[in-house]
Amino acid sequence: MSVSFRQSVRMAAYLAEQKLRRREKFPLLVELEPLFQCNLECAGCGKIQHPDHVLHRRMSVEQAVGAIEECGAPMVSIAGGEPLIHPEIDEIVRQLVGRKKFVYLCTNAILMERKLDRFEPSPYFAWAVHIDGLRERHDESVCREGVFDKAVAAVHAAKARGFRVTTNTTFFTHDSPEAVRRVLDFLNDELEVDQMMISPAYAYEKAPDQEHFLGVRQTHELFRAAFADGRRKRWRLNHSPLFLDFLEGKVDFGCTAWGIPSYSLFGWQRPCYLMSDGYARTYKELIETTDWEAYGRGRDQRCENCMAHCGYEPTAVLQTTRSLKQSLRAIVQS
Ligand code: SF4
Ligand code: SF4
Repeated sequence: MSVSFRQSVRMAAYLAEQKLRRREKFPLLVELEPLFQCNLECAGCGKIQHPDHVLHRRMSVEQAVGAIEECGAPMVSIAGGEPLIHPEIDEIVRQLVGRKKFVYLCTNAILMERKLDRFEPSPYFAWAVHIDGLRERHDESVCREGVFDKAVAAVHAAKARGFRVTTNTTFFTHDSPEAVRRVLDFLNDELEVDQMMISPAYAYEKAPDQEHFLGVRQTHELFRAAFADGRRKRWRLNHSPLFLDFLEGKVDFGCTAWGIPSYSLFGWQRPCYLMSDGYARTYKELIETTDWEAYGRGRDQRCENCMAHCGYEPTAVLQTTRSLKQSLRAIVQS
């Protein structure tokens, strides 16, 4: 993961501590979902199909912070739904930052500019703005006109106030290598965000649009072509070099779903953010009662096309720390 120096040092210390304690399974980052409601209805979304009584529920600050404390993860990505709809989202962020957790607040940015006052810039806090393409492509992806312009305005406003701003872009079959380059060039050079995350779309069973999810071969072809000519090194991508190699098909490895677990209104989701085979009340229970060997490509049909960050970035990070060559490469490219 190419991250700030402070975050890199903290992650290295955390990984060393897990090794000393001989802890075999531990979280690197938690996907925290304090609500499922959203103010958009994207065609590729697998999170907003819950019944109304679930969509109206909000996780309490105590429950959210308690879950992160119990598992001990150093990083938290707050998603949903749209977290800025949650009336106490600023308090959840404040308490996590106060505990020196690195917090990414994922948002579609519709409410972001209006709510900036409720947050404070911090080396432990970053916005993670959802931008799937340039204006026409993004608005088509989120099924509403004008959202791209709102997101761009919110990024400018946040940067002007000294916030760290990152972006999160999901690619589908109708994205060409040129489209990937155009959006990453825009985010890197024109919008000048601090870092960018990218992901091939995961084929959620409940998503209305089932036609445009990438398979493994298509993902390799897309990223290999998009990353050609050395551009990959120029972009400030928030991923380990090994995970980017994986997207390009230069290396292959298994999924480490326990490394980026998901905690929502229902509890700890088994096995990951993308699939739900039941829930556990604690991270400890999740670790001890999940058959982790049953998941991943070649083991579970639902994992066949998955190359998502939540499963494979932990594998890349753990492999990087075990190899001097990969560690040096990650330092050079961060
Ligand atoms: S913004 Fe995110 S949570 Fe909201 S509908 Fe779109 S993909 Fe789903
Ligand atoms: S491969 Fe891993 S991260 Fe992907 S859906 Fe399966 S369990 Fe989840």
